[in-house]
Amino acid sequence: MTKKSTPAAFKADTVLTHTGRKPREFHGFVNPPVVHASTILFPDTATMETGGQPYVYGRRGTPTTEALENALTEIEGAAGTKLANSGLNAIALACLSCLKSGDHVLIADTSYGPTRHFADTVLPKYNIAVEYYDPALAGDVKTLFKTNTAAVFTEAPGSLTFEMQDIPAIAAAARSIGATVLMDNTWASPRYCKPLELGVDLSIQAGTKYVVGHSDVMLGAISASEKAWPALDALHGAMGVHVAPDDVYLALRGLRTLSVRLERHMKNTLAVIDWLKTREEVAAIRYPALETDP
Ligand SMILES: *Cc1c(COP(=O)(O)O)cnc(C)c1O
Repeated sequence: MTKKSTPAAFKADTVLTHTGRKPREFHGFVNPPVVHASTILFPDTATMETGGQPYVYGRRGTPTTEALENALTEIEGAAGTKLANSGLNAIALACLSCLKSGDHVLIADTSYGPTRHFADTVLPKYNIAVEYYDPALAGDVKTLFKTNTAAVFTEAPGSLTFEMQDIPAIAAAARSIGATVLMDNTWASPRYCKPLELGVDLSIQAGTKYVVGHSDVMLGAISASEKAWPALDALHGAMGVHVAPDDVYLALRGLRTLSVRLERHMKNTLAVIDWLKTREEVAAIRYPALETDP
């Protein structure tokens, strides 16, 4: 280790280790059980009628899904988190939770390709106007605002050219007109970027990538601010989204090693970059951590 740990870095890694765990509720076992469930029994009708039991039906949540949701909620500093069947599913749900017919949405031109495909093929069917913006605009994104602009969708670093965006400036501009701010936070991961602290309302994670980390699960997550949470929670329930317990468990396991894996990622990337610099056929290297990166 060349970098000295700051108290803040120490705290984040400690949180990654312990978050979402409730060993005292499961006989002291460190990890939550993998609960396979559909029907849930109630001891009597009164308990069912008064909501006196935390779980009501498998689709609506289990101790396993709740453990991952709680973990991501704590890491993101959110009001709540919902899991999705893939990163793209999380993007679609987040968009649909804050957009309605007649709205206009601004999407960063550098967004992940399938995000654009969803925006171009699904949103227009519901009379939602899609417009792409230059990620370099920062706060000047406001020059594109219309009276019906309801949301701004950001992604930084962006796919696949790694543009960074001034998220606080974009978020402040969007909030000044009451628009919801979304961010695809997959590339930075919740370990290195906390979108909600920067003014974002819906922080999206393709858990498939760094959180799961072993190329064996498709999973997405959306962490919401107080403002965005009720609509997300309602839409997620209405759409019947459910992630299978074994996949949720693998994501929880992946979370525990996120920090050490990302450190190695960075080290390896810098080594590859050193090699790329020696290659004649490489015209430019785009990597936000480089001092030469715009
Ligand atoms: C992979 C990816 C997604 C989509 O995640 P899936 O789980 O593959 O649907 C979204 N955004 C970014 C930046 C990604 O890299």
